[in-house]
Amino acid sequence: MLWGDLREEEFYDAIEQSKGVCIMPMGCMEMHGQHLPVATDTMKISYALHEAAKIEPVMEFPAFRFGDVQGLTQWKGSIRLTVELEQELLKQLCAEIARNGFKKIILMNSHGGNNSMVHNFVRSTMYDKKDYVVTSCMLGAYYASPYYMKQIIDDQGREALYELTDEDIDVIEEFVENKRTYGHAGFGETALIFGYRPELVRMDRADAVSGLSTHEADFLDEAGLNKSTRFWGINYPNSYAGDTPYGCNERFGKCGMRLLTEAVLKVIRVIKYEDKILKWNQAWNEKW
Ligand SMILES: [Zn+2]
Repeated sequence: MLWGDLREEEFYDAIEQSKGVCIMPMGCMEMHGQHLPVATDTMKISYALHEAAKIEPVMEFPAFRFGDVQGLTQWKGSIRLTVELEQELLKQLCAEIARNGFKKIILMNSHGGNNSMVHNFVRSTMYDKKDYVVTSCMLGAYYASPYYMKQIIDDQGREALYELTDEDIDVIEEFVENKRTYGHAGFGETALIFGYRPELVRMDRADAVSGLSTHEADFLDEAGLNKSTRFWGINYPNSYAGDTPYGCNERFGKCGMRLLTEAVLKVIRVIKYEDKILKWNQAWNEKW
């Protein structure tokens, strides 16, 4: 159920089938090391949402692909909009989605840099009375990370990761044992792009720049100051955070994308089959 694919008369059925739930996947355009495309965040969540929506129908809004990218101006491919404009776009898009009959709107974010903006926006929707509710979630690289996969092996057994070979399981064990990291453009995101379109991953460029932290800004965290909102790029000057994802391949892609799709499916089912949040919203509106 892609918004733009529907004909006018099909929307009535789409509202019914989705139970009024519309999901906007959110990413950005920014460098993801030299081995992944700049639209990585948009691609990974849009694809997982699309796969999940085949199983549990929900309206898929066109991706919010110009998410919050401040800094990173030295790299090609970044598209930056002001935070004010991003907030205004969200405000008007959500109002339009609701006007069309979808009263539960989920901002399904997959770009860490969007978090502050998304949270602020969701808070701002409470300022005046609305007949719709906006909420958000963050889903992404974690579900394709060796740490999450290791957890699944421990809980459900090795067969639960049926896409992977024994050598792949060794890659997971080695990664976890050595406490390797998998942030921005790291193992998880690399796997997810393998799962979406393997031809977009250039493993031969995965160590073209370093993803290891300089640790320069760590002292801010240690003092309780928020490093990541403003100084993330000091620790990760190459727009790449994590160990080089050696051993990542298309099988990890299939497996990781399935796990992310399952996480998306869980969110869809919760929001589709609950009947409280619109009532809470109504009660809130009647209070003042
Ligand atoms: Zn990313």
